[in-house]
Amino acid sequence: MPSPGESRFPATLGAFDARRIPVLQADVLVIGAGIAGATAALHAADAGASVLCVSKGEFDEANTAWAQGGMAAALRSDDSPERHARDTLVVGAGLAAPEVVREVVSRGPHMVAWLQGLGARFDRAADGAFALGREGGHSTNRVVHANGDSTGREIQRALSQALRNHERILCKVGPFVRDLLVGDGRCVGAVVLDGDRELAIHARAVILATGGAGQVYRETTNPSGACGDGHALAFRAGARLTDLEFVQFHPTVLYIAGASRFLISEVVRGAGAVLRDREGSRFMTAIHPDAELAPRDIVSRAILDRMVATNDTHVYLDLSGVQGDPHELFPSISRICRAFDIDIARDPIPVRPGAHYMVGGAVVDGDGRTSVPGLWACGEVAATGLHGANRLASNSLLEGAVFGASAGTAAAAEPRLGVLPRHDDLAESSDQAPLLQLDDVLYSLKSLMWRQVGLSRARDGLTQAVERIGLWNRYVRRSHPGTRRACELQNMLTTSALVATAALTRQESRGTHFRSDFPTRDDSNWCRRVVLARADDGVILAQPGDLRNPSDPRGDGS
Ligand SMILES: Cc1cc2nc3c(=O)[nH]c(=O)nc-3n(C[C@H](O)[C@H](O)[C@H](O)COP(=O)(O)OP(=O)(O)OC[C@H]3O[C@@H](n4cnc5c(N)ncnc54)[C@H](O)[C@@H]3O)c2cc1C
Repeated sequence: MPSPGESRFPATLGAFDARRIPVLQADVLVIGAGIAGATAALHAADAGASVLCVSKGEFDEANTAWAQGGMAAALRSDDSPERHARDTLVVGAGLAAPEVVREVVSRGPHMVAWLQGLGARFDRAADGAFALGREGGHSTNRVVHANGDSTGREIQRALSQALRNHERILCKVGPFVRDLLVGDGRCVGAVVLDGDRELAIHARAVILATGGAGQVYRETTNPSGACGDGHALAFRAGARLTDLEFVQFHPTVLYIAGASRFLISEVVRGAGAVLRDREGSRFMTAIHPDAELAPRDIVSRAILDRMVATNDTHVYLDLSGVQGDPHELFPSISRICRAFDIDIARDPIPVRPGAHYMVGGAVVDGDGRTSVPGLWACGEVAATGLHGANRLASNSLLEGAVFGASAGTAAAAEPRLGVLPRHDDLAESSDQAPLLQLDDVLYSLKSLMWRQVGLSRARDGLTQAVERIGLWNRYVRRSHPGTRRACELQNMLTTSALVATAALTRQESRGTHFRSDFPTRDDSNWCRRVVLARADDGVILAQPGDLRNPSDPRGDGS
């Protein structure tokens, strides 16, 4: 077996020569059309730039459209940005950057108003004020929602309409970005697979807004496109990444064998639903003073422990104590459960945890600039410092909107159009390629990540995971060079290797990251971020970096 150091990840997934394929031009290329990408595109276009926005999937297949609970913002008279910041910092477990937290939460009310201005309709109480929900970690009600539990769908509807109507934005649904183009150390565009043809986009600035990576896990709340493409694209382009060990697992995902995993939002527990095991015993009260509303990682691990203790594949969410009619309060959840003959007002819902949110991503500054000139990142693919070691519920839509706005505005001001590079195909010959079943590798990867890089991790399992992923990585592309499926799988392998390497490096437990061999938080050694980058020979470099300046991998401030 190769050692972890022998796993090499290529700088590109294929050749590029601008003389051989069509080249489109735009001032700003935005990759992704969820809340981060759409907000960035709209702000860049409003600042005067011509924008090309590409999305490999339909708009309503992005994570954004799936968001249920809502978007956090301090809107009530008894709330304040300072209070919202305090809650965010507590959940961030010592790693959130206070100045980033203050900036993001103070812009919350403005971003809610901006979305309303685009036509997003948020739920109102009888007195006309916003109806605000409450989720775990929030000290008061501050979650704006739409149509009960369909907030993401409503936000995405308003954003998609604005994107399509803007005269300086061209949207393309379907093109898959294979590689970023980097020439003379600067990002100048991207290579795209559009059906069976390849084309290039040459731009002054590129904004990555590709969302999360939940699909690298067997159990996940994320839609099928959340493959970590952007994390892998940023890594191959030479950007620094951080916080990849922090993967948030959501405790309550509908579990019915064979059915796709549907999130049962935390607002359901916020409204009074409780967790019970197969005997009907409520177990969270003995584990945490906040019981079902304890931080997500604590509830998730408690559920797994209870599943083992009761030899069951899931636990149950009991809504009988919810004030009001659950069908009216949670119409989407009611509809999905009804399809499986579960009446949520009467029947407990079978649930178990699933991978939900990727805290880590490309290191960015306050404007969303990555460490590669010309490349910006926002939304789930970026590591802004807002979340620290864990994400406060409903802060991610907020972050996507705030950083999308900043990145779009800053990228529009980028003056230089760099020169397109030329990439030779660096892959080994496909002559002796093994006949790999991509689906088999995919399933094995997801299982490996769930078992060994999931809710509870330890050195041996993580080391083995890094080695296995490196091995698969060597063969996948040779086996099916240039196809979208192979590229997506290669991205999943790369992102998984980054997560496993970061998790192996952090020898403590904090936030979402739990090491059974280092079960306590170690503030003397680990108030730092693990910074990852690609070395010239393709191996993953992982080093603890300075907390204030994660783009300094040595951590000595130099
Ligand atoms: C079930 C569920 C419920 C959630 N509930 C909430 C909630 O209540 N509140 C909250 O704050 N957060 C919630 N989240 C998290 C939140 O939805 C996401 O973090 C957020 O929407 C991410 O937005 P984004 O713009 O970064 O990415 P996305 O919305 O995922 O958009 C990514 C875009 O990138 C495109 N893309 C990806 N790769 C490529 C490629 N290679 N080439 C071209 N295009 C590409 C996709 O097609 C898509 O358009 C939830 C997430 C899930 C899954």
